[in-house]
Amino acid sequence: AGTMEIVYVYVKKRSEFGKQCNFSDRQAELNIDIPPSPQLAEQFVERNPVDTGIQCSTSMSEHEANTERFEMETRGVNHIEGGWPKDVNPLELEQTIRFRKKVEKDENYINAITQLGSVRLPRRQRSGPQPSLCFPTCMSGPSEKDTSWNLPSGSRQTGPPCTDQRHCIKQNNAIDIYQEYFDDEDAVEVMEEAPSAKTINVFRDPQEIKRPATHLSWHPDGNRKLAVAYACLNFQRAPEGMSNDSYIWDLENPNRPEIALKPSSPLVTLEYNPKDSHVLLGGCYNGQIACWDTRKGSLVAELSTIEFSHRDPVYGTIWLQSKTGTECCSASTDGQVMWWDIRKMSEPTEVVIMDITKKEQLENALGAISLEFEPTLPTKFMVGTEQGIVISCNRKAKTQAEKIVCTFSGHHGPIYALQRNPFYPKNFLTVGDWTARIWSEDSRESSIMWTKYHMAYLTDGAWSPVRPAVFFTTRMDGTLDIWDFVFKQCDPALSLKQVCDEALLCLRVQDNGCFIACGSQLGTATLLEVSQGLCTLQRNEKNMASSIFERETRREKILEARHRELRLKEKGKAEGRDDDLREEEPTLNLEELVTKAEEEFFDIIFRELKRREAEAVKKKPKPVALRVRPISVAELEEGATLIAHKVDEQMVVLMDPMEDPDDILRAHRSREKSYLFDVAFDFTATQEMVYQATTKSLIEGVISGYNATVFAYGPTGCGKTYTMLGTDHEPGIYVRTLNDLFRAIEETSNDMEYEVSMSYLEIYNEMIRDLLNPALGYLELREDSKGVIQVAGITEVSTINAKEASLEQLAGAVERSTHPSPGGDGRGLGRAARE
Ligand code: ADP
Ligand code: MG
Repeated sequence: AGTMEIVYVYVKKRSEFGKQCNFSDRQAELNIDIPPSPQLAEQFVERNPVDTGIQCSTSMSEHEANTERFEMETRGVNHIEGGWPKDVNPLELEQTIRFRKKVEKDENYINAITQLGSVRLPRRQRSGPQPSLCFPTCMSGPSEKDTSWNLPSGSRQTGPPCTDQRHCIKQNNAIDIYQEYFDDEDAVEVMEEAPSAKTINVFRDPQEIKRPATHLSWHPDGNRKLAVAYACLNFQRAPEGMSNDSYIWDLENPNRPEIALKPSSPLVTLEYNPKDSHVLLGGCYNGQIACWDTRKGSLVAELSTIEFSHRDPVYGTIWLQSKTGTECCSASTDGQVMWWDIRKMSEPTEVVIMDITKKEQLENALGAISLEFEPTLPTKFMVGTEQGIVISCNRKAKTQAEKIVCTFSGHHGPIYALQRNPFYPKNFLTVGDWTARIWSEDSRESSIMWTKYHMAYLTDGAWSPVRPAVFFTTRMDGTLDIWDFVFKQCDPALSLKQVCDEALLCLRVQDNGCFIACGSQLGTATLLEVSQGLCTLQRNEKNMASSIFERETRREKILEARHRELRLKEKGKAEGRDDDLREEEPTLNLEELVTKAEEEFFDIIFRELKRREAEAVKKKPKPVALRVRPISVAELEEGATLIAHKVDEQMVVLMDPMEDPDDILRAHRSREKSYLFDVAFDFTATQEMVYQATTKSLIEGVISGYNATVFAYGPTGCGKTYTMLGTDHEPGIYVRTLNDLFRAIEETSNDMEYEVSMSYLEIYNEMIRDLLNPALGYLELREDSKGVIQVAGITEVSTINAKEASLEQLAGAVERSTHPSPGGDGRGLGRAARE
């Protein structure tokens, strides 16, 4: 089957287009005869060559042809097996076989096929890669002598046609036409929608005396339930009658918790067992570890004995990914990390003391408040401490002391969150003081990336489980920040202010990365859903994130090496040339140092301010003012009329002087043209007004060191000289500028030194003349060594007498240029004043 384009022929009679031209020969006739006149000639300047267009015929009117719209339509036609001659019915097998046989016996056909077998390579290549070679199995008719094979005459191949053809086929197959060459070149997909998040549900502490929500845990199967631990962490300040209960919430029902968990001391942490969703692990405020089996109700199923438990609140509990699913670990500010098996909860299986001096002394131990255990690195675990140090530990070390492997310090306060990147476990996130930091295990001296210092403390943080470059942080001021460091480094990709009116204390991301729960100071758990882009792995994101991690680690290492080098040098100096240094030191007293530092500081600030100011000035558009001068008496006598009208402060309208109400051809044309300027003046404007609006404001800039240019532009006689120079009674911009300039200089001369020089030149017919000393003749433009264009040899009137001389000489110049030489008007373009 095939489709057929339907062609529509659009016909229009010639007569409908207007009158036809008929050319005919006839005798030349004289239309007009203008004899040369010497008087007239005097009024003209001779021009050579002269290009003139002549139109002898009268102008004709326009004629428009409006054609009718025609609707086109393409229809398919079912066309069965094309190419059979009319007398062959393609459905009759017998007929087609007979026809095929007839054709195959045809000499032309045989020739064509044999020659096709030796198709030359260059021609195949030229036609580009094709899926396969095609062989005609049937031809429309052998009658026409077919020359389309286009072979060099006489190159008839008699042998088997296969060899060359095979080559062609092989070559064809060498190119995989289905291969996508630029598949992986695509840039990171830009997130189609801006990152966003919406609150889905809010779960409030049902108790009358509200307690802070200290920890959250998602039900391991899907996002149906959320366990929330509630505890008041103010030491011995918990109000009388405050409940110890924590809750499991069904996400569908924010009105009532599904189950209450009833420990004897409030829970600081609460964790679902990932292997068994009925089992939960809780760390109590009094240091005990408790276990629940929700099938058995609200009461504690297993509890550690007080004497073998922590002595401070348990701030961190995690389940270990073990075969039995019964092992877990806890951390407390008492400086211990304990390992437990819930089948035997009476005492811990192991205790590690967080003493980084490796002396195993509890009094030296740092308070452990966050834990990280990565199942793929089962011998390692990490502990975030109250003192802002991350301790990396080896679980399998032989002695206690060896269990403390190394530390990472950089935070100025407790590390509330510690988590390895789910994609690149070598890199981990910490949250403490006012920052979140990302570290590499390879770089111990400093974190490799960090957020800015926030105004409020950060309270918790976590990686997105699905995007290597995304993490979440909560703040004391109730803000949830979502970071995407591939997309933006200095600021969060999304900052959700006021998730709560009070402080946010904890957060937990659901395994699909789309749902985030935040717990607040007043016991409110807010459930948020982030937009699709934030919880879908972006194209190439893994590579980008890993290369950012690697690059930043490298950078930190280079800095570390450099620091070490400097420290060594200092040490060498301190030991070696100690004495020389001592002698020099006392000469610099502290006060001097402080003033010097202050000066430098303000210098930097002023320079920056100046730079910004200059930039702002540069960006400002150059104001353009228009001045319409009055019609002179002479012009009035000639019958001139005013066509430029000022409409408002900025708009000027030009009326068409040729306007003729009887002229039908022009009747439809717009009769007037309007133009907009920054400011417009008509003949009523005084010199002072023009000066005020265009130039006066520049003076301040000039005396503080900026360049300024004012220039007048227009055809001869439009009033440029009048505006710039003016007359004795009506001085123009030059004189007014100089007056104001000198006044401004005098006013500020106490704390500024100025140098004023003036030159005055004329550019006419591309020639430069010094108007302060016309005898110099024509001057040249040159570029000096700094690339500044200068007029070589121009007179500059110096500072001392600039004021008097300039005004006097200007006046002289006014005279000269208002009585122009016969050569034409002196068009002065003045560099009136220079700083
Ligand atoms: P340009 O320098 O542009 O060739 P001029 O300044 O010499 O033009 O002006 C031509 C004529 O018009 C002069 O005689 C000038 O005095 C007069 N003129 C120009 N502008 C005004 C104005 N605003 N008010 C009165 N006269 C003007
Ligand atoms: Mg002039």
